[in-house]
Amino acid sequence: MPRRTVIVGGGAAGLGAAGGVKAADPDAEVTVYTEYEDIAYSPCGIPYVHGGEIEDFQRLFLAGKQAYVDAGIDVHYNTEVTALNIARKTVTAAAEGEVSYDRLVLGTGFDYADPGVPGGDLEGLYYVKNIREAMEWDKVLDRTKVAVVVDASPLGLEMVTALAHRGIETHLVDPNPWALGEMADPDIMAPVEESWREMGVKLHFNTTLEAFLGDGGHVRGVQTSAGEFPADVVVVCTHKTPNNALASAAGLRIGTTGGIVVDERMATSADGVFAAGDCTEIPHGFTQVPLQGLTGSHAYAQGKVAGTNAGGGSRTYQSVYVPWGTPAGKWVIGGASFGETTATALGIPYVLATAEGISRARYYPGVHKIKVKLLAEPGSLRLIGAQMVGGGEGIKERADFLAMAVKFGFTLHDLSTMENVYSPPIGALNEPIVVAATNGLNELAKAGKG
Ligand SMILES: Cc1cc2nc3c(=O)[nH]c(=O)nc-3n(C[C@H](O)[C@H](O)[C@H](O)COP(=O)(O)OP(=O)(O)OC[C@H]3O[C@@H](n4cnc5c(N)ncnc54)[C@H](O)[C@@H]3O)c2cc1C
Repeated sequence: MPRRTVIVGGGAAGLGAAGGVKAADPDAEVTVYTEYEDIAYSPCGIPYVHGGEIEDFQRLFLAGKQAYVDAGIDVHYNTEVTALNIARKTVTAAAEGEVSYDRLVLGTGFDYADPGVPGGDLEGLYYVKNIREAMEWDKVLDRTKVAVVVDASPLGLEMVTALAHRGIETHLVDPNPWALGEMADPDIMAPVEESWREMGVKLHFNTTLEAFLGDGGHVRGVQTSAGEFPADVVVVCTHKTPNNALASAAGLRIGTTGGIVVDERMATSADGVFAAGDCTEIPHGFTQVPLQGLTGSHAYAQGKVAGTNAGGGSRTYQSVYVPWGTPAGKWVIGGASFGETTATALGIPYVLATAEGISRARYYPGVHKIKVKLLAEPGSLRLIGAQMVGGGEGIKERADFLAMAVKFGFTLHDLSTMENVYSPPIGALNEPIVVAATNGLNELAKAGKG
């Protein structure tokens, strides 16, 4: 009898897991449950369709439904799993009843945090997630004159930029003093905020949401600590929280962040049950502090590991150093591990090495500034984090590289002497990371600490 793996979740984690099971055991029976009508689309592209950079939603689909049938993966669409029974090794799927499994993978993803204010049931509150809903919302945005975005989270940044591109009067309401205030540094975000102002965005920082206001059941604005702002649509971009409902009801171990606790095989506290993606928590490689709400690429990679192990193979997932990046306003921001804001909040001492460099040869058209900030451990000068802001290209690749540099313990000395590509259209003679590391070492030498 082939082994039966049930996967709850048709997002990056669930589909990564389905592929992982099949790679490890091509004969395995794989059943995927999703509450949605579709799988295999990129939710990450939705803000860019709203912003007009991508012409239609169809382009976000990566594979048709037939591709999964052909791969022997049985996807049950529009089907909620309502319960797990770990002792009996069953899930209860709406309209199907109890279904047994040999191995189970949970990829139940995230929910946006409840804003916890009156008016949450009004129409006109947009939680960006499901592609079918996004298609309907896109028609609403055609008629929208004024929008409020709640919270300058990573998605909030993308949606503010998208709505402004679209010519909608956009207000950003956020309780922190600057955008992405829980992870990014204010000097990294300052150019972004300036560019939003140039695009006509109204920024309301240090401003707490108090209520969604409505007329006849439809939102007409928000009440905040800084007064009332009218809006045709409110885009709610509160932080992501792990969707652990099934797991916690079934008694699986849940961590301090609310994510399902997994080991390096992505195995949960229950025998034969794995979990992956935004429903889990994963330790940060440097601090070992558990993190939840990582990215789609983390979810997919974790799904692959969970699926491979569920299929009888052997793969491990390591703690994370979190390279990140996104366009915001007219800039691209990014980093690895953490910046000054998080280091300070965690009480982690650091020395700084900074530089303003350029993305290409200074004479080549399209050259942009790139600001690089490196955080290193005092004494060893081992890199512990980095943040950047720049125009155009190169932030993503630097963030990926710097995450590896943190992981493998590179020091400012290593970075100041690293080799780099120089080609006028794609890279400057002086790589900004090298300049930052060198500046930092010079400053330390001047202060007698080098
Ligand atoms: C608008 C948007 C933009 C994004 N941008 C980026 C980006 O730029 N870069 C990036 O890396 N990531 C991005 N992401 C990805 C995102 O932030 C997550 O990290 C990623 O979606 C997590 O994948 P997941 O599979 O863990 O969960 P999800 O994508 O949340 O999928 C959860 C799945 O579980 C199913 N499910 C949940 N409960 C049940 C149940 N009880 N029964 C049946 N099915 C259930 C759902 O139907 C869904 O299929 C974006 C996401 C969105 C929505």
